[in-house]
Amino acid sequence: MSTHENRSVYVKSPWQFEVHDNPVAEPGPGQLLVRIAACAACGTDFHVADRMAQDWQVFGHEVSGVVEAVGEGVTRFAAGDRVALDSSAPCGQCAICLPRPYGRGRPELCRTAATYYGSATMGFGKMLLTPQQCAVAVPQGMKLDVAALTEPLGVSKDLVETAQVGPGDHVLIIGPGPLGLGAAALARHYGAERVILAGRSRSEARMAAGEALGADLLICVDETPLAAYDFGRRRPDKILVTAPPQALAEAIAIAAFGGVVAYIGIAWGPGAKVTFDADAFHFNKMSLRASHASPGTHAAETIRLLADMPQLGAQLISHRFGLEETGPMLTALRDEKRTLKKAVMVNQ
Ligand SMILES: [Zn+2]
Ligand SMILES: [Zn+2]
Repeated sequence: MSTHENRSVYVKSPWQFEVHDNPVAEPGPGQLLVRIAACAACGTDFHVADRMAQDWQVFGHEVSGVVEAVGEGVTRFAAGDRVALDSSAPCGQCAICLPRPYGRGRPELCRTAATYYGSATMGFGKMLLTPQQCAVAVPQGMKLDVAALTEPLGVSKDLVETAQVGPGDHVLIIGPGPLGLGAAALARHYGAERVILAGRSRSEARMAAGEALGADLLICVDETPLAAYDFGRRRPDKILVTAPPQALAEAIAIAAFGGVVAYIGIAWGPGAKVTFDADAFHFNKMSLRASHASPGTHAAETIRLLADMPQLGAQLISHRFGLEETGPMLTALRDEKRTLKKAVMVNQ
């Protein structure tokens, strides 16, 4: 079987990187071979480099590109199409995905998702083989580096929708990283009356981006802890936590009566255990909800949101680098994690 030339970035913990040839097979049934245009770096990639990669492995999962070839049975895409990729998508066939009465009709809970994760090609490379379900078409006129934000913006969208943010809501977002910034923009877009972004004062670039994306109010929690902050006549109805789990206790303490707290995050260890005031939780009729956009179900909508909200791409992307620079760039940025926005690899 013929192969296509490819180069991929390999990572091994802690902070070792290599770039070498990684020829890729012709796409099989239902697969697309994508020539990667851009791949954005995610907090997960820093964790992978720091401690998760026991052996050399490929990585990167926020991808856009151009279809190079399609496998048998692919009808939605053809060579030359510009696509953005979700890192996984519901299989559409299992008892969870199938509509009622055949299944649960909950594709977002699918446990047998289609994904390129764990395969021989990932996003920091020249080529990627992916199940076609992961791909969505990139609108005309959208740059492919912006299209690479489709996957992470889907994560923000899942968080905002998990909290059912809507018109009139007062929304507090704790954690101004790329996910929190995307959530701030989407909360505004969904009609929130007030969007408040809380973070540390050292996250200056992120807080400024939050303001540009529609946050009405910034709270520097190292200057005024949220517990001491005077929200005036109305406390936040919806609190979106993209910070370490300890922030959950604080969120429950300050939310409005009937408030909803939505959370995304992985604590990697002992920090995962939190305690909070269950009486306050009960008497204030609160909800605590987990967001985890895997499998991805938002890409078709998020790519339209990226097209409709050009300020997102402009505000979120702070660094661009080439394939060969991936290792040095991630290493240089590791200590800046709290201040950087999105760094995006762009293939020349
Ligand atoms: Zn990610
Ligand atoms: Zn399924």
